[in-house]
Amino acid sequence: MKRALYTVLAVALVYLIALWWSGYGFAQDLSALARLDPAESRVTVKAEATEITLGLSQPVPYRAYLLGEPPRLVMDFREVDFAGQRPEVLALDGLIEAVRWGRFRPGWSRLVAELSGPARLVEAVEETEGLAGTARIRVRLEPVSADAFAPRSGASDSALWDLPQPAVTDPPHRRQMGERPLFVVLDPGHGGIDPGAEVEGLQEADIVLRFARELKEGLRRAGVEVLMSREEDVFVPLETRITVARAAGADLFLSLHADTVLEGQATGATVYLLDEQAEDSASQKLAERHDRADLLAGVDLEGHDDEVATILMDLARTETQPRATRLGQVLAGAIKGEGLKMHRHPVQGAAFSVLKSPDIPSALLELGFMSSEADRKRLLDPDWRARMVRAIVAGVQSWAQADAAEARLLRQ
Ligand SMILES: [Zn+2]
Repeated sequence: MKRALYTVLAVALVYLIALWWSGYGFAQDLSALARLDPAESRVTVKAEATEITLGLSQPVPYRAYLLGEPPRLVMDFREVDFAGQRPEVLALDGLIEAVRWGRFRPGWSRLVAELSGPARLVEAVEETEGLAGTARIRVRLEPVSADAFAPRSGASDSALWDLPQPAVTDPPHRRQMGERPLFVVLDPGHGGIDPGAEVEGLQEADIVLRFARELKEGLRRAGVEVLMSREEDVFVPLETRITVARAAGADLFLSLHADTVLEGQATGATVYLLDEQAEDSASQKLAERHDRADLLAGVDLEGHDDEVATILMDLARTETQPRATRLGQVLAGAIKGEGLKMHRHPVQGAAFSVLKSPDIPSALLELGFMSSEADRKRLLDPDWRARMVRAIVAGVQSWAQADAAEARLLRQ
């Protein structure tokens, strides 16, 4: 419930390389305190708008919202070290009458700005510079009439204290540079009470598990380390599949499926990459069905603040997305190169929840469609599967080489 309230008024809550909504922590290097840079921090007034800029030594998750009586802007950070810095460095102006800041509780710091009158939050953004560089948080306010002022109504102070506890932190995620074996998490879709697609007595959960085991062997023979999100016929929530990969520090996440399509006659393999704006309705329905399967299996999706997630993901994906895009292209190329049938749109975007790791290049491979008789035959054919394993192993290896080369280049 409190999350729903937050959604109403919290304008921005940004997580970089974090999956707060999954209850999981973020990389150690980012959980360290960000330091405030007074030289890059200020209050500026442009026409009606008042803007607060905070220069930080590194990006941090944060949120910004308004409170009433008296009107205030509140910003929570996870976490900014304000020690030794006086709020006066902001040079108060415009709507900002007074600023206090400091540690709020373990893992969280807070800034409270008293406003000269009712206002609305126009914008709250975090900009980063470079791959591991400094960050700047900008919050823009505009005055509104008392009637239009909409602070978080009815929220007691204690509700505000109810921030999520600092989560368990992952070990730092180091991008692979080819100096150690590649580490892949294979994610056989569905399982347990969620059988996935079911056609003529066949269950997608079984088919993809068998394939994942074969692919695991193929990858291991090629020197790749492999962890599976499930080894048997058990239910694993989508969120857990992501956290398994993140906790293990995976270099790459590959989800394996063989779904049905309700309309049309899709055949062949398809590589899906995350695209939350994807408009192709068939692939969106596929993604929704996966989420729904989770829901029906009893997973509580309450509190998954997608507004939050979207902002956070946009930031963190700046680096990961092109790497995932290349993964999709290389996999599709390898499968084609092996002479295996691909869908007429071999690489597609869809909003699959399981692809939402912001820092691990992820792809979802529909090996074929259970709704297609030809595809079912292929999926049951050991020779076909061996060829598919060979193709994916080759694709993963060539992706890893190019990815490592890029990482080395970026480090120079
Ligand atoms: Zn599936």
